[in-house]
Amino acid sequence: KRGWIEVICGSMFSGKTEELIRRLNRAKIARQRVEIFKPAIDTRYHEEDVVSHNATAIRSTPIQFANDMLLLASGCDVVGVDEAQFFDEAITEVCVHLANNGIRVIVAGLDMDYLGKPFGPMPALMGVAEYVTKVHAVCVQCGDIASYSFRNAVSQEKVLLGETDSYEARCRHCFMEGMKGK
Ligand code: ADP
Ligand code: MG
Repeated sequence: KRGWIEVICGSMFSGKTEELIRRLNRAKIARQRVEIFKPAIDTRYHEEDVVSHNATAIRSTPIQFANDMLLLASGCDVVGVDEAQFFDEAITEVCVHLANNGIRVIVAGLDMDYLGKPFGPMPALMGVAEYVTKVHAVCVQCGDIASYSFRNAVSQEKVLLGETDSYEARCRHCFMEGMKGK
């Protein structure tokens, strides 16, 4: 069997989780053995499920370290990872290792943080992936295609988990306009 790496990236509300769940469900239809991991810190909707903003969900395993996947993913055909931006840098070598061992690895995560800067291990993951898909949200200010996650909250804490009231999807123009007032 041959493995590879797929990355699904974009802003908040761009449908990363939706697209991840779609691909994983199709793998399940094909009777592939599927396992989904997410960082243990992402418990905003459910302790174990990976949940999209449009409320579709899939059973997942919360893990603390990227390395935990090595043991838990053995025997899988397809491995999904959601909120990959929150994992430690080891996530990249772990995904490469799994792909080298015949596993299809599908990684979803924010490509930029609320400051518009590349987020954690995502640039490295995009570098080693065979396929990179960038999905887009709709700018809540003007309706253009949005690729930025604008934060309304005052806290400077980077790992503030997503909620509709504190973050909004914005296009480049409206994101930059919003940052002027900060
Ligand atoms: P992500 O994982 O990228 O944050 P989700 O898959 O959880 O995205 O959610 C995508 C869903 O979010 C869309 O199908 C739509 O129902 C909803 N949504 C809410 N706000 C927006 C927005 N500004 N642009 C696009 N979709 C939005
Ligand atoms: Mg998501």
